[in-house]
Amino acid sequence: METLTPIKLSTRPSADGAIKHIKPAVDPSTLHHRQLLDGAFWQKIPAYREVDEATFLDHNWQAKNSITNGAKLLSAVQDLVPQSFYADAAEGLLRAPMSIRVSPYLLSLIDWADPYNDPLRRQFVPVASKLFPDHPKLTLDSLHEQEDAPVAGLTHRYPDKALFLTLDTCPVYCRFCTRSYAVGVDTDNVEKVSLKATEDRWERAFRYIAERPELEDIVVSGGDSYQLKARQITLIGNRLLEMPNIRRIRFATKGPAVMPMKLITDTEWVDALTSVVERGRKLNKEVVLHTHFNHPNEITAITKRALDIVFERGIITRNQSVLQRGVNDSITTMQLLVKRLGHCQVHPYYVYVHDLVKGVEDLRTTLQTALDIEKAVRGTTAGFHTPTFVVDAPGGGGKRVAHSFEHYDRETGISVFAAPSVKPGFFAYFDPVDTLAPEIQARWADKAQQDQMIAAAIAAAQAAQVATARASSVR
Ligand SMILES: *Cc1c(COP(=O)(O)O)cnc(C)c1O
Ligand code: SF4
Repeated sequence: METLTPIKLSTRPSADGAIKHIKPAVDPSTLHHRQLLDGAFWQKIPAYREVDEATFLDHNWQAKNSITNGAKLLSAVQDLVPQSFYADAAEGLLRAPMSIRVSPYLLSLIDWADPYNDPLRRQFVPVASKLFPDHPKLTLDSLHEQEDAPVAGLTHRYPDKALFLTLDTCPVYCRFCTRSYAVGVDTDNVEKVSLKATEDRWERAFRYIAERPELEDIVVSGGDSYQLKARQITLIGNRLLEMPNIRRIRFATKGPAVMPMKLITDTEWVDALTSVVERGRKLNKEVVLHTHFNHPNEITAITKRALDIVFERGIITRNQSVLQRGVNDSITTMQLLVKRLGHCQVHPYYVYVHDLVKGVEDLRTTLQTALDIEKAVRGTTAGFHTPTFVVDAPGGGGKRVAHSFEHYDRETGISVFAAPSVKPGFFAYFDPVDTLAPEIQARWADKAQQDQMIAAAIAAAQAAQVATARASSVR
């Protein structure tokens, strides 16, 4: 038998008392996740040259000065970008399913010397020259949120949790919004479903939730919880906490990513949230904040200050990102985002493979991209800071772990998922057509060929399921 050699403890002090390291210490200057943008960075934008810190941190000033059309964009950024860019953006806005709304904070984080490649510009300002045609299988409400809504704005898809869309406005409008069927004002392309913050509609939602003993977990979203007034946060929080069946509440908001200063200067709103969290804690119920950062550039020294306040109040924050081409679809960017969120005590919860949304084909990635990035992110930090990469299955199958496909044909770009505890059947996700080989792109241009490719993928998924079931002992 082999004899075990005694383990040498390399951390044992050497003769002079120094600790012997196994690997060299990391150069702190390479720990980029801790290096946050600070100082008056907004003053490089012509419109904000004279804006002092107190004004910039005022959330009312941010809301009032948000950019809501091409003309306002031009007057803020002025000659930092060439005229041709504005023309491109104006045309992009005409075609977009979402109206534009960008806070001065966000605008200041965009590198206007390179607007076409900037990851924040790509998310919030559409440009016509970079748009691709929509995927042929795309619909406006691809997740079927309305179909699964017993009350307007309350989607009850999963057994024990529901999504409550309390209102239809946000502090910012993302051009990739999954809820472009409802969120924001009507555009030239889309007449929206109205989900106003009326207490009458909320009352019907509360009644439904109270009548369903199996419901334990409510996502309060929108639109965006940032837009709820302090007294509305209190009202919604209390109504839900008072229901014996409710054990968990999450307030969802993109706010910390696009207007973090509200957490610093809107004390009334933060106090209202804190009170709900504290009341929940006394009732042994969990109330948390869910947010939506997509890129490390969205996290600055202001963000850290804002999130420190939330953390000091004992509020847990989790993050949900969307995987986007040219934004965060590289290993280094996603690793940096995950580490920077962790640095701010935010738990990276999910990374969504991009939903099939109108007008954003240039932002979607393949499923394979998600698989590759997930592999590289896992192992870099705490497991509870490691996001789960999911596909929200088109057709209402719910979130599925990206790796859990029944079948993935990388040639046709079709992946097939099953959601046995949510809905019967198969759910197909489609890679963007422009990423596929030219002969496959030609097949996607033909309706009959599309149906054939999808039928073949589903048949392959069925066959794979049968084969696995034979080998499996799980019943
Ligand atoms: C995402 C979502 C939820 C919450 O799901 P988790 O996986 O628990 O975060 C609930 N309802 C709907 C309709 C959703 O889309
Ligand atoms: S903040 Fe959320 S709901 Fe609002 S536009 Fe962006 S993605 Fe849509």
